[in-house]
Amino acid sequence: MTDIVVVGGSAAGLAAAITAAENGAKVVLLEKESFMGGIAKLGMGIAAVESRFQQALAFPFKRDDAFKLIMEHTDWRADARLVRAWVDEMPSTIEWLENMGVEFELLDIYQSSEFVTHTGHLVKKTRTIVMPAEEPKWAGVTGEVRITPKETVMEGGRTAVMITIMTERAKEKGVEIYTGTRAKKLVMKNGRVAGVVAEDNSGKTLQIDCKAVIIATGGFCHNKEMLKKYTGFELGRDITVIHGVELLGDGIKMAWEVGAAEDAMSPALIVSPIPTRELSEAFNQPYNLVVNQKGERFINEEKLGANWVHLAYAIARQKNRCAYIIFDEGIKRHMETAGFEHISYLYRPARIKLDKKLFNETVERLSKRKDSPLFIADSLEELAGKMKVDLETFKKTVEEYNRFCETGRDRLFNKNPRYLIPIKEPKFYAFKCGLSMYTTVGGIKINERAEVLNREDDVIPGLYAAGDCTASVFAYDFSLTYMLWGSNLSYALNTGRIAGRNAARYIKTLR
Ligand SMILES: Cc1cc2nc3c(=O)[nH]c(=O)nc-3n(C[C@H](O)[C@H](O)[C@H](O)COP(=O)(O)OP(=O)(O)OC[C@H]3O[C@@H](n4cnc5c(N)ncnc54)[C@H](O)[C@@H]3O)c2cc1C
Repeated sequence: MTDIVVVGGSAAGLAAAITAAENGAKVVLLEKESFMGGIAKLGMGIAAVESRFQQALAFPFKRDDAFKLIMEHTDWRADARLVRAWVDEMPSTIEWLENMGVEFELLDIYQSSEFVTHTGHLVKKTRTIVMPAEEPKWAGVTGEVRITPKETVMEGGRTAVMITIMTERAKEKGVEIYTGTRAKKLVMKNGRVAGVVAEDNSGKTLQIDCKAVIIATGGFCHNKEMLKKYTGFELGRDITVIHGVELLGDGIKMAWEVGAAEDAMSPALIVSPIPTRELSEAFNQPYNLVVNQKGERFINEEKLGANWVHLAYAIARQKNRCAYIIFDEGIKRHMETAGFEHISYLYRPARIKLDKKLFNETVERLSKRKDSPLFIADSLEELAGKMKVDLETFKKTVEEYNRFCETGRDRLFNKNPRYLIPIKEPKFYAFKCGLSMYTTVGGIKINERAEVLNREDDVIPGLYAAGDCTASVFAYDFSLTYMLWGSNLSYALNTGRIAGRNAARYIKTLR
């Protein structure tokens, strides 16, 4: 018997467990994997407003600004009281993590004209973290990964340092952590939550009796059936996942089974990543042309490198849910001489130019790959053939686009004339992009105290939930994650703290 069982040992679960323990509760945490941190250990940083880091800024973003931005972006479909509670918690969560030993630096690199990046608090790589070979990571990354204060495979993985510190803190506060233990079912007694049934790695079933449960099991990106039923996407056919941590929606199903109301759900949608820095930068420039499988334009290319969620949403509407980003030798020369317009914050300071040698080497390497998404051609006809788009439609699209470039007016999507460079000079380069996701967001309906609500909108006594499995706010507009840079982890940590505090309060009322 314990006071509280937390299900899920990542950002939301750890924040909930530590907070509940700090508030005097006896806590057991169950994590199905052999490691802690779920996908939260693959990230870079956390959104917060009114933290001590922002006081030095000329135009700091305030809590009221963040609240307004979130509510306007979700058209007030998100729960306003929950959003307010999340936003209000932001500065103290940064302080709370700092007191634990997590260090931050403000993300002050220009990322995109569309995002308020200075809310981003990057976790400092103050320790070396080794992610063993058998631990699932970002798609395409295998083997042992060392996150060191100097270098990482990518800039991702900074948050692994935070997860390590939070896990240590949880243990210090007496949280009993069981990894390799998968929660299966909630136990109810007289309408209240009274326990969790779980299974360990050896297949042994165990029941932990408790007074409250906090569900923090993340999304359901690897659950084919749920994905199809609740989002319409078919895993493997029209969408992929960018990491290998298996998230099956267990907690969402467990909550629904005891009467929890469904809340909006969606994949945390992005455009499938373009491999290597050189190609990623080159193809993410607003000078490029984007066409769908039919050979038609469907987006203002200014979105390239500026708002990849908008690009992903637009791709989701297209045939085969894919797009081709195209440039020619003239645009390539422009990138070599004038430099890039958009620079990914992951890689380099702004205004870097295309490195011809590196680009050619990468292109050569990638072209040899079977099913390469990169196409190179000496004519538009050849390119259309390689992309398998209708030649006549594609030629018309390019002719029309080149006319827009000559007249300086994009009559279709009103692209900024600055970015209108015609596509006419061989060689032609195209990259095929599809859809990918970080995870899914939403599923369990909660209120501003992170209490789970039933279908009558009443609280299910003793049941709390936090993090991605409750994050319907992002299902309404996933751009929010970049608008307030780092807001997914921010939501997970803050709702986790709210759940932990309120669950600890609740069990005191039972004594
Ligand atoms: C590559 C990558 C980079 C990212 N970078 C950022 C970033 O920089 N900033 C940002 O804000 N967001 C980022 N995100 C998103 C962010 O990581 C998630 O929103 C966040 O991790 C959600 O936390 P969570 O605790 O709700 O869920 P998760 O991190 O998904 O964790 C859920 C946990 O529950 C466990 N679990 C599931 N089922 C069970 C069960 N039945 N029993 C026991 N345990 C179970 C899982 O194993 C997992 O550990 C990134 C995501 C990815 C994939």
